[in-house]
Amino acid sequence: MNPQNKILFAGDPHGNFKPLIAAVHDYKPEAVVLLGDYDLDIPLEVCLQEIVGLTQIWWIAGNHDFETPSKHKHLFDSALADNGLHLKVTEIAGLRIAGLGGIFLGRVWYPPQPPKWRDKQHYLHNQPANSRHTALSLKYKAAIWYDELEALKSLKADILVTHEAPGSHRHGFDVIGDLAVAMGVKNIFHGHLHENYAGMIKNNIKVVGVADRAVADLMGNTLNTA
Ligand SMILES: [Zn+2]
Repeated sequence: MNPQNKILFAGDPHGNFKPLIAAVHDYKPEAVVLLGDYDLDIPLEVCLQEIVGLTQIWWIAGNHDFETPSKHKHLFDSALADNGLHLKVTEIAGLRIAGLGGIFLGRVWYPPQPPKWRDKQHYLHNQPANSRHTALSLKYKAAIWYDELEALKSLKADILVTHEAPGSHRHGFDVIGDLAVAMGVKNIFHGHLHENYAGMIKNNIKVVGVADRAVADLMGNTLNTA
């Protein structure tokens, strides 16, 4: 196997998993990492049943995965629920991969503006008593929280996968680059913006944007999945 194919990265499927499944058959990666926005109407492992057992399947969530209780359940209660990479570092095919799912949300934290809340407890405790919920709504669960991103900085990794883009993209956020620098990562792979591109940010960190339904290898090449 070509070493650059040992891990493949899948851009937002939005309900179409065929290109990813074809790539697994063609390139036989040790692992695939899905970059969010699945729009699931059946559990994730059912969508991917053709490749379950052929490769490891890891994922982060995108904003769409919090849009409805059903889409959320089919990811977070799926048989692959434990393979989420959000807010931790996981060794996959010999590489340490860090994950940051979700999006920046104005009512939580929209960098470079300061965060509206220190953490989830701070937010929950400041809701009016008559509308106080003990659990976060899905909208807030989709958000990137300041304290959680800061905590991730104390870990080390080789690759960072995110749904949002770092500052390499005109719609990206420099705080993701700051996170990558703190963690010592060499590469960032992200989805969300539906664009294949390669870029560079500070510390020579290479950024690969993976378009919707596209599949990229470790070098950032877009694979032919026809
Ligand atoms: Zn998205």
